Amino acid sequence: MQVFEIENKYTKKDIYEILNVSKSKQKGSWDTGYRKYNNDIYIFANIGTEGRTGHDYTNYWDGDQLHWQAKSNSNINQPLIRDILDVNRNGAVHIFTRTENRDAFIYEGAAVVNNFEDTQPVKIVWTFPSITTNLMRPELSPNEISSKFLVEGTGKKITVNKYERNPLARRKCIEFHGPKCKVCDIDFEEKYGSIGKGFIHVHHKVPIAQIGDQYTIDPINDLVPVCPNCHAMLHRSSPVLSVEELKAVLNNNP
Ligand SMILES: [Zn+2]
Ligand SMILES: [Zn+2]
Repeated sequence: MQVFEIENKYTKKDIYEILNVSKSKQKGSWDTGYRKYNNDIYIFANIGTEGRTGHDYTNYWDGDQLHWQAKSNSNINQPLIRDILDVNRNGAVHIFTRTENRDAFIYEGAAVVNNFEDTQPVKIVWTFPSITTNLMRPELSPNEISSKFLVEGTGKKITVNKYERNPLARRKCIEFHGPKCKVCDIDFEEKYGSIGKGFIHVHHKVPIAQIGDQYTIDPINDLVPVCPNCHAMLHRSSPVLSVEELKAVLNNNP
C-alpha cells in the first residue's frame, strides 16, 4: 500500500499522523536526517540548503538520482547504515526532500541504493524505481547525458537528457511557467481533471554541444514545460526544434 503520494508535500506532523507515530516516539531522530520506524526507513534530506544542525549535507540531484550523505559522523559499520545498505532487508526506504529550511518535505518515493561510498560520512546514490516508469521521469541509464525513452501515445522513441529528469529543476520550471504545454497550451488538469494534475514533461532547451563541465541548469530559462506529444515532436528533428519553431509548425498546419 502506498501511504505517501509522490511529489506531495508533508510536514513531520502529517507524517506522524499518517504513520500513527505515538507522541513518545515523535521528534528525536525524526529531526536529524534518518530514522527507522517499523520496518521502513525514512530519510529527510535538505537539497542544496543548510540542515537543522547547520551542516551542509551536500545532497543534490544528478538527473533523477539523488546523491545523499548520511550524518557527518556516520560510517559503514553503524547498524542503521548497515540496515540502510542491506539489499535483502524487509521494508522500504522512503525519501523526503526540501529546499527551504522551513518548508514541508516533498515525498520522492521509495528508493534503492544505486551506489555507495565507504567514507565518513557515508555517501549513497539513490534511484527511484517506482517513478522511473512514470512518464515524468523516464527510465534511463545513469550518467548518460542523452538516452532514449518511449513516449506513450506516440510510439516514438525520443532523446531526453538528464536535466529533463532532475526533479528539483523540473519543479522550479513548473512552479514558474505553470504545468501547461508551451507549444499547444494543453493543461492536463483542465483536460482530464484531477488525474492530470501536475502532469507535464519538461524540455531542456540548451543544445548538449553547448554544455561544458561547469554548466549548472537554470530551471526557468533552460527548461520549458511541454506535453509528451509536443515533446516528442520537438525531438523528431535533429537538431531539435525550438518551442517557437514547433509552435509555428502547429499554427501553420491547416
Ligand atoms: Zn503540447
Ligand atoms: Zn526534450
